[in-house]
Amino acid sequence: ADEDLETVPMSFPSVSMSSRERRWSDTTPYSSKKKLQSWFQLPNGNWELGKMITTSGNESIISLSDGKVLKVKEESLVPANPDILDGVDDLMQLSYLNEPSVLYNLQYRYNQNMIYTKAGPVLVAINPFKKVPLYGNDYIEAYKRKAIESPHVYAITDTAIREMIRDEVNQSIIISGESGAGKTETAKIAMQYLAALGGGSGIEHEILKTNPILEAFGNAKTLRNDNSSRFGKLIEIHFSETGKISGANIQTFLLEKSRVVQCNEGERSYHIFYQLCAGAPPSLRGKLNLQNAEDYKYLRQSNCYSITGINDAEEFRTVMEALDVVHIGKEDQENVFAMLAAVLWLGNISFTVIDNENHVQAVEDEGLFHVAKLIGCDIEDLKLTLSTRKMKVGNDNIVQKLTLSQAIDARDALAKSIYACLFDWLVEQINKSLAVGKRRTGRSISILDIYGFESFNRNSFEQFCINYANERLQQHFNRHLFKLEQEEYIQDGIDWAKVEFEDNQDCLNLFEKRPLGLLSLLDEESTFPNGTDKTFANKLKQHLNSNSCFKGERDQAFTVHHYAGQVTYDTTGFLEKNRDLLHLDSIQLLSSCTCPLPQIFASHMLTQSDKPVVGPLHKSGGADSQKLSVATKFKGQLFLLMQRLESTTPHFIRCIKPNNLQSPESYEQGLVLQQLRCCGVLEVVRISRSGFPTRMSHQKFARRYGFLLLDNVASQDPLSVSVAILHQFNILPEMYQVGYTKLFFRTGQIGVLEDTRNRT
Ligand code: ATP
Ligand code: MG
Repeated sequence: ADEDLETVPMSFPSVSMSSRERRWSDTTPYSSKKKLQSWFQLPNGNWELGKMITTSGNESIISLSDGKVLKVKEESLVPANPDILDGVDDLMQLSYLNEPSVLYNLQYRYNQNMIYTKAGPVLVAINPFKKVPLYGNDYIEAYKRKAIESPHVYAITDTAIREMIRDEVNQSIIISGESGAGKTETAKIAMQYLAALGGGSGIEHEILKTNPILEAFGNAKTLRNDNSSRFGKLIEIHFSETGKISGANIQTFLLEKSRVVQCNEGERSYHIFYQLCAGAPPSLRGKLNLQNAEDYKYLRQSNCYSITGINDAEEFRTVMEALDVVHIGKEDQENVFAMLAAVLWLGNISFTVIDNENHVQAVEDEGLFHVAKLIGCDIEDLKLTLSTRKMKVGNDNIVQKLTLSQAIDARDALAKSIYACLFDWLVEQINKSLAVGKRRTGRSISILDIYGFESFNRNSFEQFCINYANERLQQHFNRHLFKLEQEEYIQDGIDWAKVEFEDNQDCLNLFEKRPLGLLSLLDEESTFPNGTDKTFANKLKQHLNSNSCFKGERDQAFTVHHYAGQVTYDTTGFLEKNRDLLHLDSIQLLSSCTCPLPQIFASHMLTQSDKPVVGPLHKSGGADSQKLSVATKFKGQLFLLMQRLESTTPHFIRCIKPNNLQSPESYEQGLVLQQLRCCGVLEVVRISRSGFPTRMSHQKFARRYGFLLLDNVASQDPLSVSVAILHQFNILPEMYQVGYTKLFFRTGQIGVLEDTRNRT
């Protein structure tokens, strides 16, 4: 019925924390004389509601809820909203829009299991860390019929479906937030809704089953989240012209493969390893010579084997079933498990020193034996690959022996590569199974579940890439919610005092500029045979110190001013992680294996190089094969992602975690506030309120409401009809703007007209 109504997301500026805060207090002029209650910040940073007793001069006396009475400076008070606004489901409705009021409103709702709140066009989701009664078929049905109006992932997904059909434009649901904030769960909830509404062909069951597979292979227990995704994911779900799901395609980003060979105390490697060890049926155990998780060095090092409330053996059965559903045959499944076992056994291979130059040789023990058997190669070849390197020096081919640390690196690199290739191969198989093929006729909805901004005590190459991606996504967010809006106002000639905002283009330039940007300099240094993390850090300081987003630090570190705050990166390991070398000896070993998967992996590694690898022997030092650096490849992926997202109508969900303990019923104000600031939730509300988020063309408006007019205006042009309607209904002049082609309304205005229309 309301298909003529166009409500679009509104503007959002990204500003530095300080000016953001300043702007906040400015937005709502405040006179305490009219106020009954205000927010007062306690020394611990939390805000508390104070009842105003008296005010004189610039001092007020307030009483807090615990009965304490305080004399405070008026400027330290922040206005609180009247009680009737407690728990409004859109922050836009708050009369006073400030940080404590927003925090309080979200907490008020959270305490009643209302974990979803709108912030203008953005959906805020606070992780309940417990089962909340908000999901399932009854709810899906209710949202579909629009019987429930409260904010929900279902509601935003419903909007996406409707807009896809109505506008014939692809849609995207972009989910962001810190680790443990609930992105992956939210993505699954959205998929559930899509499957329920667009199901029928059966392919939706397959699509849902990709979740347990990808989580088994790509998620791990970390200190922040028992089920942390260690990769980014975009799933594009295709619909036929009749609105039914016809297929899907998954793209993944930057799997954290270092976890396979190294992980911190109290964390785990990828779930699938523990699941396999715990759940493999006896025949498989025998074939793969499987031991318990405790018997594998890679799994033993972090001293953590189980997750509270999770039965790995049971999970393994779920994964096997899911593999069946996405048509990965039993034989392939067994090959996959063999590769997993090979990775585990690789970690158990040890070395002995064989000469007085510290050169080593792999020990012929069960580790070496099982790896050779599992990947299908000769034991001697494996031994040689792990302890020597073929090189070309001048015109001579020589074989260099490896030292212990070089040999361990070679072994770990092989394990990481096998795992990463396995992951990619699985995604490829899944995509084949979900492929739309000839049926691809309609539209799509993409769901992006990607790591949020990260800032730890020590930040490395992974954080560098992740934060760069977030900087790009933030720009996308800005663009859509802010720039495009303003441009539309200006284009339509309406009176719109331009709102200043600091966009993050400068920071993006710092990363992307050539030849003197972070990524280019990193790649350049990575190709120098003598480049080290230290020379890289020095080069950054030398070339970028004048950049306002950059600051060189001591001890080969540097700081970037991200939109969400400053992050200091330690360059240790940057070059190696960026080069991500697998020596050609290892690739050749894989290609000579009798098992199918290693062969596929090897050919994949070779074709990924941007220049063909010419022969087995290469120049000493530097890269063995001229493959793309990790950062460059990631940048390429990111650009493609942005391109794809640009052509869609975006819907944003910001996930928030209320505490760091993964515990229900704990809401830490400081933590929530910091996340709200990082993802610009407060800004988006402010700008949305000051703009004109609802708009309609003169024609549509006249057509839709013209019949309500008391005078007959049938002969008049749409603009005149529109103006007559506005007058008849006493819509206040400050509540709308008349553009060249459209009418623009402030939030809520169109509601009056709609009510009248529906009653008539
Ligand atoms: P990461 O970036 O580490 O992958 P994430 O944002 O994807 O984190 P999730 O794995 O989705 O976080 O959520 C972490 C945990 O929080 C879940 O395993 C689940 O226990 C809980 N959780 C999240 N959302 C919900 C929800 N809507 N209802 C109940 N529990 C939830
Ligand atoms: Mg996740």
